[in-house]
Amino acid sequence: MGADADAGMGADAGAGTGAAPAEQGAGDEVAGGAGEVWDVVVVGAGPAGSSAAYAAATAGRRVLLLEKAELPRYKTCGGGIIGPSRDALPPGFVLPLKDRIHAVTFSMNGKLTRTRRSKHMLFGLINRPEFDAGLVAEAEKAGATVRTGTAVSRVEQHGAAVPDRRTVAVVLADGETVLARAVVGADGSASRIGAHVGVEMDQVDLGLEAEIPVPATVAEDWKGRVLIDWGPLPGSYGWVFPKGDTLTVGVISAKGEGAATKRYLDDFIARLGLAGFEPAVSSGHLTRCRKPDSPLSRGRVLVAGDAAGLLEPWTREGISFALRSGRLAGEWAVKIAEAQDAVDARRQALNYAFAVKAGLGVEMGVGKRMLTVFEARPGLLHAAITGFRPAWRAFARITRGATTLADMVRTYPLARKALHVLDARQQAAAARNGDGA
Ligand SMILES: Cc1cc2nc3c(=O)[nH]c(=O)nc-3n(C[C@H](O)[C@H](O)[C@H](O)COP(=O)(O)OP(=O)(O)OC[C@H]3O[C@@H](n4cnc5c(N)ncnc54)[C@H](O)[C@@H]3O)c2cc1C
Repeated sequence: MGADADAGMGADAGAGTGAAPAEQGAGDEVAGGAGEVWDVVVVGAGPAGSSAAYAAATAGRRVLLLEKAELPRYKTCGGGIIGPSRDALPPGFVLPLKDRIHAVTFSMNGKLTRTRRSKHMLFGLINRPEFDAGLVAEAEKAGATVRTGTAVSRVEQHGAAVPDRRTVAVVLADGETVLARAVVGADGSASRIGAHVGVEMDQVDLGLEAEIPVPATVAEDWKGRVLIDWGPLPGSYGWVFPKGDTLTVGVISAKGEGAATKRYLDDFIARLGLAGFEPAVSSGHLTRCRKPDSPLSRGRVLVAGDAAGLLEPWTREGISFALRSGRLAGEWAVKIAEAQDAVDARRQALNYAFAVKAGLGVEMGVGKRMLTVFEARPGLLHAAITGFRPAWRAFARITRGATTLADMVRTYPLARKALHVLDARQQAAAARNGDGA
């Protein structure tokens, strides 16, 4: 199912427009009128922005969620929902699952294919237009006002547009200015708000994807099973994610190898026997992982999700990072909105950064180490996961949300030791290469 087909699907669940007056919150002015000051303005209505808006609206604050697209909108994404994503959804949110995955076929650039199965569901698959529109509807139900078709150009924390030091001016593409006590930037991987905050990235990857409608016989063959193929480029991999009558087929690799990444996708599709089916959508998108020490806030502005470069560096899984950081950002934005001075606002912003770094930051650190090992020795990883039962069980527990990669390394001496040994080998190899240079 492609973008056009999805376009009708979530229309009811999609965002409303205009400014329904919200309840009185931390600000003094009534939201909706001239000179209004919102408690929290959220930029971007992906999973991070919707979560932030939901959290702040649930706390009874006046929240405005701004989204440049009309909803539902397409987003290049596999739509894999692992346990931590499911656990971070608003209570009662029903996942619009297209398939439930119980088996994974692994291959090494098309070879050494092996399928592993699980009694338990490993993870679920959704279509992003429908999923994202559903989350926006939850934020709206919680009291957030949503404006779609509204692109934000920049935020200003000083200057003529800013009436006082407790206020941020959010400048829209048409020149209109919206005022807020706190802003959450959740505007994705090419974030303008992230640039304002000064987020720096240390890993940029290019993901290419095709949504391929297939006949029922082909769809049946994939039902309940995904394929993960460790790719020919360092750190690359490909996937087939079945969603009923459509397969989402994609690859991801370091940015800068565009032609080779495209070739990998074409070869991947061809050897799966899918080249004869016309994709409904073909698209590409960059993913970015943050430098661990780069900021998550500036003044009264926080960033979450892809805008903050919060993404698992190895798998490039980002929905759980977006949902979890979005919720934290919404909660801390409420406190920033209440802050009477810059010192208090800064304290709350630092608390947000601390919460993110202590949780998601640690997960990213372990993911980065895994990526380094995987880049150098993909065969080792493939052999472990397909031939060594504890490694497969660890994979299954992580995708189900029973644990995280970081927890595994913390809790299991064997996992910690394995990673240390691999780290040491990596360092030795790097040193050898350095000597030879
Ligand atoms: C090929 C590929 C496959 C992926 N597969 C998976 C997967 O299977 N599972 C997984 O967990 N993760 C996956 N990811 C990562 C995942 O898609 C992202 O991490 C996730 O979408 C981040 O959510 P977000 O809310 O931070 O940003 P987004 O989902 O990008 O949402 C940002 C929103 O902000 C809006 N916006 C942008 N600029 C402005 C502006 N100036 N003003 C107003 N609005 C604006 C955009 O229109 C958009 O709606 C994949 C990524 C890629 C590239």
